[in-house]
Amino acid sequence: MKQVKLKDKEFRLSYPEAEIQNDIDLVASKINHDFAKSGEVPFFVSVLNGSFMFTADLLKRITVPCEVSFVKLASYQGTSSTGKVNELIGLNENVTGRTLVVLEDIVDTGITLSKLYEELRKLNPKEIRVATLLFKPEAYKGNIKLDYIGRSIPNDFIVGYGLDYDGLGRNLPDIYTLI
Ligand code: 5GP
Ligand code: MG
Ligand code: MG
Repeated sequence: MKQVKLKDKEFRLSYPEAEIQNDIDLVASKINHDFAKSGEVPFFVSVLNGSFMFTADLLKRITVPCEVSFVKLASYQGTSSTGKVNELIGLNENVTGRTLVVLEDIVDTGITLSKLYEELRKLNPKEIRVATLLFKPEAYKGNIKLDYIGRSIPNDFIVGYGLDYDGLGRNLPDIYTLI
């Protein structure tokens, strides 16, 4: 059984590269089908850091005209009355009236996605869709519909393929689960 050690933790192979690539093929086919039908030009919003590999591999398979931009959601403490504030960094394009497709590496509780969704809505797009490579249905507490899901996985901690443990493991082409 293939394993990796990152710092103090051991991980075992759970989701080999070929399976990931196959899931991405299916997501790309659905997106291509939907946008070929509507004739709209999707505007992909890739959420850094985790989504960089998924974004690269997915977009190589998109066959309709499309745009992509990379964002980060920065969370900082506002004034005591406003509490935590989320700021969307990196989206300089005008996306008014556009159909956005958020690209996420993983949706766990859905809190990050909800915050991002709120920020994107302020930019008055026509529609916001969500594509995530991985989804943890047991952990999900959100109410945002996930339009394109690569794979639903158990509620375990994983690394690889863009996902990190304390900054490490993003470079791994396979996905591993914490033992
Ligand atoms: P959420 O807000 O949906 O709970 O979590 C989203 C973020 O938490 C993801 O973008 C990712 O950075 C991190 N995350 C959630 N689950 C995992 C996991 O199993 N492994 C890693 N490495 N990060 C995770
Ligand atoms: Mg993410
Ligand atoms: Mg992380």
